[in-house]
Amino acid sequence: MKTGIRTAISLLSIAAAAYSCTTDKVSRLDKAEKDLIDAAGIMRVLTVDDKEDSLVLRSECTDFPQKFLRSGRFRRLADRMIATVTDSTQDGVGIAGPQVGLKRRIIAVQRFDKEGEPFEIYPNIRMEYLSEETQTGPEGCLSVPDIYGDVERSRTVVISYTDPDTMERARDTVSGFTAVIFQHETDHLDGILFTDRMQTH
Ligand SMILES: [Zn+2]
Repeated sequence: MKTGIRTAISLLSIAAAAYSCTTDKVSRLDKAEKDLIDAAGIMRVLTVDDKEDSLVLRSECTDFPQKFLRSGRFRRLADRMIATVTDSTQDGVGIAGPQVGLKRRIIAVQRFDKEGEPFEIYPNIRMEYLSEETQTGPEGCLSVPDIYGDVERSRTVVISYTDPDTMERARDTVSGFTAVIFQHETDHLDGILFTDRMQTH
């Protein structure tokens, strides 16, 4: 009985520790990460064709500390990620941290469900809900050159992220093609590529 209680308590502290990961117990940016963000121009997009790149693309990403999200360097990263994905050499609809060499939970997504279809940035993003109802459509990826294929995804998702203006957790419900982009990009943060989910014919 005592052992049972002790197990329950240790499970609770594991749950608390996991929760605090999304708030403050995250590592500060190291010099390499800062240098990557501070560099000029379009960011290099990593691809599976390169062995070193592949290791980054298969990594689990971690959150940013709140202090970073309040900094000018975060704004710089947001601007550069969006400049990279919208650059004519890429012309993508979304991009994730590891694709530009950062093993951090951040994505940029084109919001086709909003007026003007703006690109928006989502730091410390989590997928909170995936609908059972699905949709299937063709996908490609800036990091997987020349491969396209059908992927089955949830029709509707609920995301949560840290709003850099308020530092509060924000939520959003997204459906349709934009929900596909959110699923594809958050997969990157867990080291998952769309080819892992591609339907074989
Ligand atoms: Zn991708």
